[in-house]
Amino acid sequence: MTIQADQETIIVEAFINGQNVKSLSQLAKENPTNPTEIVGYFPVTTKEQAVEAIEAAAGAFKTWKQTSIDERIIMMRKAIEKIRAAENEIVHLLSREHGKPLYDAHGEIYVSLMWMEFACNEAKSALQEEIKEHENGKTILSYDPIGVVAAISPWNYPIALSTIKIAPALLAGNTIVLKPSPYAPLAAAKVAEIIASEFPAGVINVVHGDADVGVELTTNPHVTKIAFTGGTATAKHIIKAASETIKDMTLELGGNDAAIFLESFDVHDERAMRRIVISNFLTAGQICMIAKRVYVHRSIYDEFVEKYIEAANRWIRIGDPFDSNTTVGPVNNLKQKNYVLGLVEDAQKRGAKVIPLGQILDQKLFDQGYYLQPTLVLGCDVHDPIVVEEQFGPTVPILPFDDEEQVINLHNESIYGLTSSVWGKEEDAISVARQLEAGTTMINTAAVQGLDVRFPFGGFKQSGIGREYGAEGIRTYTEKHVINVPKTLDLPYIPE
Ligand code: NAD
Repeated sequence: MTIQADQETIIVEAFINGQNVKSLSQLAKENPTNPTEIVGYFPVTTKEQAVEAIEAAAGAFKTWKQTSIDERIIMMRKAIEKIRAAENEIVHLLSREHGKPLYDAHGEIYVSLMWMEFACNEAKSALQEEIKEHENGKTILSYDPIGVVAAISPWNYPIALSTIKIAPALLAGNTIVLKPSPYAPLAAAKVAEIIASEFPAGVINVVHGDADVGVELTTNPHVTKIAFTGGTATAKHIIKAASETIKDMTLELGGNDAAIFLESFDVHDERAMRRIVISNFLTAGQICMIAKRVYVHRSIYDEFVEKYIEAANRWIRIGDPFDSNTTVGPVNNLKQKNYVLGLVEDAQKRGAKVIPLGQILDQKLFDQGYYLQPTLVLGCDVHDPIVVEEQFGPTVPILPFDDEEQVINLHNESIYGLTSSVWGKEEDAISVARQLEAGTTMINTAAVQGLDVRFPFGGFKQSGIGREYGAEGIRTYTEKHVINVPKTLDLPYIPE
């Protein structure tokens, strides 16, 4: 699937039924730190090839679903070992195509492997059929595979958000057609190739492209489940497209996660201040579950802002992803950079104060790449676009609030409800957390530091449908099948 074209350029092909499939046209993936440098090429999969991939998955499903869970776990564990052995190579490619610093790319592999390991350890108990003997006879509840899964992933965590789908889908006995994002297709394809090498032909297929290929995956009648991570606007198209054939869906969508700092928060806690800065600017702010709006109790607001700027200026070092001093790299693509810039400029026009944060390590690189200097935005109105929309980039508004009821309302009036965080005395923070509409709420931390793969992850409202991670993240790839064996044919309410 991936061929080393020369030392630096990777060529990716579609992978269908265990074979690389040549495509008529290819697209170039540029390096976000230097857009004139091509990291690799990936194909534009045709509609016919997408159909072929789906049919290969449908064909393989007939035998794959008969395999035992033990066999599947053995294959998945071998795949995990192969990914681990290739980690440095994968991380290098991911950094180059995505722009995330090396430590961050390693972090993505770390989370991916942690989840894949968990899925292997948990699969048997999560998928164990239940048999109940009762006064009316016997009932068997089994967790059957759904069939062909279309897995569609975004660009921000291309490997983690592909493996989060591949591992449970396959362990549960499904086959898969993966479509990575055209903004970060190379490393995800490389990892899928490694996993596919341990599984029979047709069990994992990979296609490339954007909405046109996506439409085939979401309308084809052979696809019975869609596992999608991406934007809420895209999910609305997917729901419509899939309605004709009523597909099962897990949708992990956008968020506008709030971090709430209560009166009891200690602004002199330097570790906590660094933690919130990281929770705003890790991966240049391009994480679904990162804190995207910060509310601070008015009594500590001024001091909080002062300490925040100090902490941000210490932690944020914008530079080459391959430089070990760099903590923040470029934005992944020009479209996203312009979108974030537009939000900041709009806030400025509305009267907000924009404060640049951090240190630029290499001005020449900064000027040539899709870099954005991280910014803090103060003095916004609670309904300004930069506060209510998902910025998905290196900028964050900080706003004061006066009482808990007000901030809980501000949190809950969002159309999103992915994650949130509450900072302060533990019992006060938990009490506020219980009132927030969010799939995950972290106490005295935020973003990926609060992620726990043992528990379900997903969003309220327009942040999604269903959950990934935890035992539920495995069972979501199954149909619940009840087999009833009644003791008697008597029906109490129907006359003989
Ligand atoms: P996106 O919605 O633009 O694209 C996601 C994927 O969908 C890509 O592979 C894309 O090619 C594909 N796609 C586009 N149009 C399609 C269509 N009509 N039918 C089928 N597939 C289609 O999202 P993005 O810009 O890649 O990612 C950023 C978004 O993802 C943000 O909103 C972020 O919050 C969200 N996200 C959510 C989570 C989560 O777990 N909730 C995690 C990461 C990212």
